[in-house]
Amino acid sequence: MPDFNNTENAFEDKDDFELKRAYLLFSTIKSPLISKTLTSLLKFALFLKLPIIPLVKLTIYKQFCGGETINQSQSTIDKLWNSKIGTILDYSAEGKKDERDFIQVFNQTLKSLKVSKNKQQIPFAVFKLTGISSFSLLQKINLNLELNIDETLEHKKLIDRVDKICSTAKECNTPIFIDAEESWIQDTIDNIALNMMQKYNTDEVLIYNTVQLYRHDRLDYIKNIIKQAKEKKFKIGLKIVRGAYHEKEIQRSKTKNYKCPVHLKKSQTDLDYNKAIEICLENISIISICAGTHNENSTLHLVNLMSRFNIKNTDHRIYFSQLLGMSDHISYNLSKEEFNTSKYVPYGPVKDVMPYLIRRAEENTSISGQMGRELTNIISEIKRRKKK
Ligand SMILES: Cc1cc2nc3c(=O)[nH]c(=O)nc-3n(C[C@H](O)[C@H](O)[C@H](O)COP(=O)(O)OP(=O)(O)OC[C@H]3O[C@@H](n4cnc5c(N)ncnc54)[C@H](O)[C@@H]3O)c2cc1C
Repeated sequence: MPDFNNTENAFEDKDDFELKRAYLLFSTIKSPLISKTLTSLLKFALFLKLPIIPLVKLTIYKQFCGGETINQSQSTIDKLWNSKIGTILDYSAEGKKDERDFIQVFNQTLKSLKVSKNKQQIPFAVFKLTGISSFSLLQKINLNLELNIDETLEHKKLIDRVDKICSTAKECNTPIFIDAEESWIQDTIDNIALNMMQKYNTDEVLIYNTVQLYRHDRLDYIKNIIKQAKEKKFKIGLKIVRGAYHEKEIQRSKTKNYKCPVHLKKSQTDLDYNKAIEICLENISIISICAGTHNENSTLHLVNLMSRFNIKNTDHRIYFSQLLGMSDHISYNLSKEEFNTSKYVPYGPVKDVMPYLIRRAEENTSISGQMGRELTNIISEIKRRKKK
């Protein structure tokens, strides 16, 4: 059983300087007011093109990102692998909208697959559909609206790109995650993911869709895809998460006056998350999963279920994953017990990953609750080292 209180394991690859830098960072952003002020200043400074990139690079970027390129992320990949933690390279340039940007993300995804070939250190690759196509097109398809000639071409380009990414995943023998996004484009993503699973997950699982358990219809989604997989004889890959757009989902459903698609109580999301894991383990002969979570209870729930179902810690059908710079007490202690563990390692030019970094800052304020655990762990480890 992993011991999440073991901070010696959690920070085994951080020297005293790195630990103090993490302490300073988390204690600065813990105040919602300071975090908000700093992120606003950051946006303003970027807008004015003030030379703040070196400062960002030394602080928040260093905590949460691998580097500007895959090459620059190599030392992070090696460091994680010294603790037997795999890397999932995530090109995190966000908010891009034109064709040139889509091609850039597409090429980076292919590149991340190619570098992963025959490398245990990089067990998966990942991409978002909004990285390689426009949000408005995905939304229009979701609404079953008729596409004009340009949109029909754009749609074909999207499917070709996804297929090329999946066939490259097959060539490189590296499974790939398709991230989940807003509910008003998710049917489009689910349908594409389903087609790719039917095509590529015949012998082994290469394509993983993502399920957000803050949605109240996702247990039914899982039951339904299991039924289809049994009938059509393909295997399922699922990344199981709670969901990143909770506020946005609630806000939109209120503004547009439709039934809110997400749970309103955290306990309901937690119940569905744990239930989803149970359903997957009951069907482990046809499902592989990755639990993308920083939640200790859900992680322990999966650990306990694995033992109840007699599944070895090293079984390749079950992975755990956290984000770089967060919840090391979970990742490193899982890995010590030989569970398959990985981290999303975001990379990309500093100014392009800024939205990602701002989200991490917001998520780590005292309001969200995550910060408390991060800071407590860092302080415990600093004290433990002082006593030595
Ligand atoms: C490796 C990895 C991959 C990820 N991939 C994706 C992805 O593809 N798509 C995506 O959307 N997210 C993704 N996420 C983010 C994830 O969905 C969560 O936002 C994040 O991990 C926090 O949830 P948690 O399980 O770690 O823990 P917790 O801190 O226990 O849960 C927080 C989550 O609970 C839910 N929640 C909060 N308040 C309420 C409430 N009042 N009522 C109901 N539910 C509530 C929200 O989903 C919130 O994010 C990923 C996370 C990881 C670690």
